[in-house]
Amino acid sequence: MNKNLKNFFYPKTFCIVGASSKEKSIGYELLKSIKEYGYTGKILPVNPKADEILGYKCYGSIEEISEPIDLAMVVVPKAFAVDSIDKLLNKNVGSIILVTAGFKEVGKEGEEAEKRILKKIKNAGARMVGPNCMGIITTFKEISLNATFVAEKPEIGQTAFLSQSGAIGAAILNSLRETDIRFGHFVSVGNKADISENDLLPFWEEDKQIKTITFYLESFVDGEMFINNFTDKKITKPVIVLKAGRTSSGMKAAQSHTGALGSSDRVVESVLNQFGIIRANTLNELFNSAKGFENFPLPAGNKVAVVTNAGGPAILAVDSLDRNGLKLADLSEKTKNKLREIVHPEGSVNNPVDLLPGGTAEQFKTVNEILISDVNVDAIVSVFVEPVMVPALPVIEGINDIKTKKPLLQVVMPLPEFWENYRKNSATGKPLFRNPEDPAKVLADMLFYSNNMKGKEFLAASTSKFKTCNSGFLQAAEIEQLTKKYKLPSVSNQFIKTDSLNKQLSKIEFPVVVKGISKDVVHKSDLNAVKVNIKNRKEFKEAIDEIKKSFAKKKIEVEEFLIQPFVKGKHEILIGGFRDPSFGPMIMFGSGGKYVEVFNDTCLKSAYLSDEDIDQMIDETKIGKILKGVRGEKPFQVSKLKKVIKSSAKMMLDNPGIKEFDFNPLIITEDNSIFAVDIRIKV
Ligand code: ADP
Ligand code: MG
Repeated sequence: MNKNLKNFFYPKTFCIVGASSKEKSIGYELLKSIKEYGYTGKILPVNPKADEILGYKCYGSIEEISEPIDLAMVVVPKAFAVDSIDKLLNKNVGSIILVTAGFKEVGKEGEEAEKRILKKIKNAGARMVGPNCMGIITTFKEISLNATFVAEKPEIGQTAFLSQSGAIGAAILNSLRETDIRFGHFVSVGNKADISENDLLPFWEEDKQIKTITFYLESFVDGEMFINNFTDKKITKPVIVLKAGRTSSGMKAAQSHTGALGSSDRVVESVLNQFGIIRANTLNELFNSAKGFENFPLPAGNKVAVVTNAGGPAILAVDSLDRNGLKLADLSEKTKNKLREIVHPEGSVNNPVDLLPGGTAEQFKTVNEILISDVNVDAIVSVFVEPVMVPALPVIEGINDIKTKKPLLQVVMPLPEFWENYRKNSATGKPLFRNPEDPAKVLADMLFYSNNMKGKEFLAASTSKFKTCNSGFLQAAEIEQLTKKYKLPSVSNQFIKTDSLNKQLSKIEFPVVVKGISKDVVHKSDLNAVKVNIKNRKEFKEAIDEIKKSFAKKKIEVEEFLIQPFVKGKHEILIGGFRDPSFGPMIMFGSGGKYVEVFNDTCLKSAYLSDEDIDQMIDETKIGKILKGVRGEKPFQVSKLKKVIKSSAKMMLDNPGIKEFDFNPLIITEDNSIFAVDIRIKV
């Protein structure tokens, strides 16, 4: 484990540059949090004006400290930040948290200052968290460091949490007594000048005390690097990402907050899904799922039993199961017979099992046990709304007591006093959920994770010999080079200059398609420049004239004509690709032709494809389903299509120079052939 990274979370000596004796100042509150949380290492506060603060001996300057500093936190005003960092680096400090704000997030000048600091850090071989961040926490007993200025006392857990927003981080810490979130590591990374999700993802994978890795992100520093951790199969732990900035206006907000560059949400959505990274939509979902992974076994399947003492919340729970791709389990007859002995005759022994408001703690416990023993049940959701006659705590504790290898998640809707009581008196302190809709997403995330752990092999990049000195759209000869190399099924193309049309006419084998070509025309059909099924010389001449005319109307010159054999098609599909600024090579498959935008039937994935991903691209699109055969139609040989998708992705991976490409359409014929008739590659 990298020593500098490790020292952020496991420091034996901790220096605060800018410690203060003024109450309510950051330099004071920080020291106070650290003291009260019981840091096990040695604290080294630096303040030129104080001899001691909160009982700790103060140093007049960094130079006065004689012992090695594992971790230093800089909270001085911006004007002194660079000087402090210089002095720390002179003392060979390898791990620095720069809390001070006023850098990239405030504009150009701040960005330059941030770059200068980063350069110093890099030159010294040190690492930095921040600037513009709010600190770090390790709850584990051997360290017990709360280096944030939030006075709450976080409980020990096994989840690691990175927040790109200091305010979100602070809000979570403020809410701990209500939400019962427990983490092992917490870090606010601020502007991510140096340390980002790309450092902490592999670090936390390696740290044995961490079980689940969670992120609140407004941008990915380098999305391709992030996902390569997954294509290389370095990550085995559940990773949950809350990515803010879904809408374009959200994105603008993200930019002005930390100067972050966002990537479009569709890319984020598809990439996270492809590599088994869980996406949370809200903070609540993020921590609910983290609690799920930390405290419950993984479900073996998607069949869920629901127990309740109230109809409404159970219906909401069931709706939520449905939304999350889970099913209500069909209970066995044996189970139902056992349940009949316990459940009130007016209740229900069908799933959801209803004990009615009179359901007692004993009944709840026994019913949960019966449901667990049913082989048709993979997970249980027990919903308890506190009625006047049955107190909540014994019900909840009774169920907490059950030992099981299946996840049993409890929803409690009690009087407010319950929570304090539960915190003080629960023997297990297992997490409870507050809304009947919550457990479904948790179970779905756990299932998604366990299904994704099954060995996928991802496509990898190799170096390509293909080089071009052009930029913009590739010319025909270069396109041909690429289509040959990647075995992409192109139709034969014959380019003819306007003045040699007559000479070439005798060589044309009808029927053909005639296309007018010009650098200034991207979509030929818009200009009426594609004439299909031309059967003879007469039609050919007419086609040429019409194309010339419509070009002339727009004052564009026809540079040449493209003659292709006319392919009698059954379907038109699209395969395309582009390079996302963050996640790199992306691939798209779907319905093609002139109406691509109208049909809007495409599936997008990272070009680091596995065979399963290619299957999914076909299964998730309407055209894919049609090609597999509907209504008694003969299915298309999908294996051919898969090969083309795979080699297109490979072309994208191997050739970083390719910015975009479009095969639209590839025509699929009645007799199982596939031809690209319109290829555009932009470099
Ligand atoms: P653009 O996309 O620039 O408008 P295309 O070359 O894709 O032009 O042609 C538009 C449409 O013409 C295609 O979607 C397809 O329906 C038809 N087409 C083009 N080339 C052929 C061909 N060789 N055989 C049959 N139909 C074709
Ligand atoms: Mg086209």
